[in-house]
Amino acid sequence: MNKVLALFIVTLSLINVGISQTKSPSEFLGYELGERFSRHFQVVNYFKYVADKNDNVKLLKYGETYENRPLHLAIITSPKNFSKLDEIRKNHLKSAGLLNGEANDDGIAIVWLSYNVHGNEAVSTEVSMKTLYELVNSENKTTNKWLENTIVIIDPCINPDGRERYVNWYSQKGNIPYNSNPDAVEHHEPWPGGRANHYLFDLNRDWAWATQKETQGRLDIYNEWLPNVHVDFHEQNVDQPYYFAPAAEPYHEVITSFQREFQITIGKNNAKYFDKNGWLYFTKEIFDLLYPSYGDTYPMYSGAIGMTYEQGGSGRGGLGVINKEGDELSLKDRIAHHFTTSLSTIEISSINANRLSTEFHAYYKNAIENPFGNYKAYIIKNNNRDKINSLIKLLDKHKIEYGRVNSEINIKGFNYNKNITEKVKINSNDLIISSYQPKSNLIKALFEQRTKLSDSLTYDITAWSLPYARGLDAYASTSKIATIPFQKSDTLASLDGVGKPYAYVTKWNSIEDISFLSYLLQKKVKVRFSKKPFNIENRNFAAGSLVITRAGNQKIEDFDKIVKAASNKFNRNVLAVSSGFVNSGNDFGSSKVTYLKAPKIAVLSGKGTSSLSFGAIWHFFEQQIQYKINIIDTDYFNEIDLHDYNVLILPNGNYKKIISKTQLVSLKDWVQKGGKLIAINSAISIFAESEDFDISVYENDDIKKAVKKAKDSLLKQEILKPYTDLERNNISNSITGSIFKASLDNTNPLGFGYSNYYYTLKTNNKRYAYLKNGYNVSVIKDKSNIVSGFAGKNALTTVDKSLVYGVEKKGKGTVVYLVDDPLFRSFWENGKLLFSNAVFMVGQ
Ligand SMILES: [Zn+2]
Repeated sequence: MNKVLALFIVTLSLINVGISQTKSPSEFLGYELGERFSRHFQVVNYFKYVADKNDNVKLLKYGETYENRPLHLAIITSPKNFSKLDEIRKNHLKSAGLLNGEANDDGIAIVWLSYNVHGNEAVSTEVSMKTLYELVNSENKTTNKWLENTIVIIDPCINPDGRERYVNWYSQKGNIPYNSNPDAVEHHEPWPGGRANHYLFDLNRDWAWATQKETQGRLDIYNEWLPNVHVDFHEQNVDQPYYFAPAAEPYHEVITSFQREFQITIGKNNAKYFDKNGWLYFTKEIFDLLYPSYGDTYPMYSGAIGMTYEQGGSGRGGLGVINKEGDELSLKDRIAHHFTTSLSTIEISSINANRLSTEFHAYYKNAIENPFGNYKAYIIKNNNRDKINSLIKLLDKHKIEYGRVNSEINIKGFNYNKNITEKVKINSNDLIISSYQPKSNLIKALFEQRTKLSDSLTYDITAWSLPYARGLDAYASTSKIATIPFQKSDTLASLDGVGKPYAYVTKWNSIEDISFLSYLLQKKVKVRFSKKPFNIENRNFAAGSLVITRAGNQKIEDFDKIVKAASNKFNRNVLAVSSGFVNSGNDFGSSKVTYLKAPKIAVLSGKGTSSLSFGAIWHFFEQQIQYKINIIDTDYFNEIDLHDYNVLILPNGNYKKIISKTQLVSLKDWVQKGGKLIAINSAISIFAESEDFDISVYENDDIKKAVKKAKDSLLKQEILKPYTDLERNNISNSITGSIFKASLDNTNPLGFGYSNYYYTLKTNNKRYAYLKNGYNVSVIKDKSNIVSGFAGKNALTTVDKSLVYGVEKKGKGTVVYLVDDPLFRSFWENGKLLFSNAVFMVGQ
């Protein structure tokens, strides 16, 4: 080859390198990051582009949102690591004990960066592109070096539906150029805001319960990688500076000393850059590590260093806004801060990759061999197949192992329902969750009766114990129990070969039963339910059981086919009977076996209602039981004819401005003519203030005195106490999500399918008195009925003798008061039947 040609080739290849250099986000998008909000599809396109362009980037789709947007992850590491990516991943899972085999000490750290879980904290997704770019930028020798012992996983947007809601609105409303005056409309999002996902769920409260599609997809892939470090990027109030780890107390007691220590290591590395730039930040305040369903705690309970980073901004930030100090906070500033902590976290993880890797291994070894806490096994009595199957589904999501005993044994166990330790017989079909397994810390956090609080100042609920949330008959044992694999009992009596029976009968005590009913009602099948228990063909059926007689359904051509299809679809054990003559109880022609009129439901949403409460209702009907609802916005609520509906649901909310006194009168008229009104949580207030309804705020002289005394002493304390302690005194008035054992009248249709008690989650300190004329279906008789969680001492004085669930008859109609929201975050599984009773059974 002659010199000229050689030079030409060298030049050509240099040009090629130039051409093949990955474009930065700005080059790709055609605008500087921070000049506008990028749309989700643009971000996806950029991630696809970078993955195509670079041999060391893998883009994988792990799911889709409810609005059909793709959910992606990018995995980036050095080319050398990339060539054996799956080997590294498997080795990592081996070191956690989640795959069989010996793990090598490869000293590789996995850092997972989750951007934009809250949609209107919209800076994060912009940053994700910049972070990705700097990792693949071949001119950045520093980041390239980090990748030699680090795998970075980037989720550019956990919540695309919420973020697009925000960005779309902002793009329509904002001034050009943007207006940084905080009064401008671009800083005031309308209801419901962009924070939550499509069904208005807060995805940063959903990690442990996995009720949403986004969470379900993410958990699968999360548990395939189990990062050493996980960051959840957020934004807070525009006036706040930056927050990063270490977190605030209370810390859950399962959090290890290394996890505590390494948060400080990471925090100090972040601080180094913030100090250099003169940026304000704070640590160790507000954001605690307790509630297990966050993007920081969930990773913590799975062996990672889980952290929340908070930039000032969120829905009020826009492209720029003047803060209370009179300075402008721009989107570009917000990008710079989150980008800095993104890289700083990768850097410090890379520097400590060896330590992270060995500590991760030690964490899991300890979790398996020496599980934290007194209880070494949790036993769930198998007396409700549907509940067991639903629990198993959740355990599988979290890679929690379960089993059963080989043959019957007797042990001593803590009985969650009786709140005592007693002898219990464990059968071979009961479900056992042993603590001797990789996820034992998560198990403890989810199953423990009471969570130990190192400090009662937390910004979330303090109780969530699964046996109460799911209404399980559960025990906790201090001894290790050996198990063999659990067998799911899925095979049921089929209706195949059944001809034309007189009626079909089935139980009523789970979500699947509700879905079964929902399906039949929408096929126009007439369904009855028994108001009393009965026995037919030697089988006992509790009150609430469904009876589908041929009578009334003769006009439906495919009647038997429809019932059969429904029983198959929902795996119901339906009994076909040839007679309506029962051994005990009421025959099927009795008025006690009531025709269930399909409810035509209106649900109020919009300004004034709680978007979270409304969202949980919406999701329940649409996604869980597939029953049609009519969503009515508060803006035009007074223009609709309510008589077109027979059920009206008012989610938690502030209705003072929504429902006027005149409207309250027309609501009362509608109820009296046969309507059913279901008021949840604070929606009850407007009825409590009206003389026309039976409900009233709970106050008696004793309580008044107690409250006054408490207030007086508080006042005295507050006058004398240093300013810094005030926050602490305030919490004696509050209940931050505690569990109480309430009585339940299960002869009332609202209590059908339950025992004579109900565990309720109290999330505020609003109390209502027993109804004078209505049915007090569920009440808290005594404050000693608290079983879990924190309740301030003043708040407890008003819990005595307060109403939880009540039913008021009014003319031909009914009002159902649900003081505690039975659908809260959709994780209180045991409330769903009660809510359905209110919708389908009560008042029929
Ligand atoms: Zn957030």
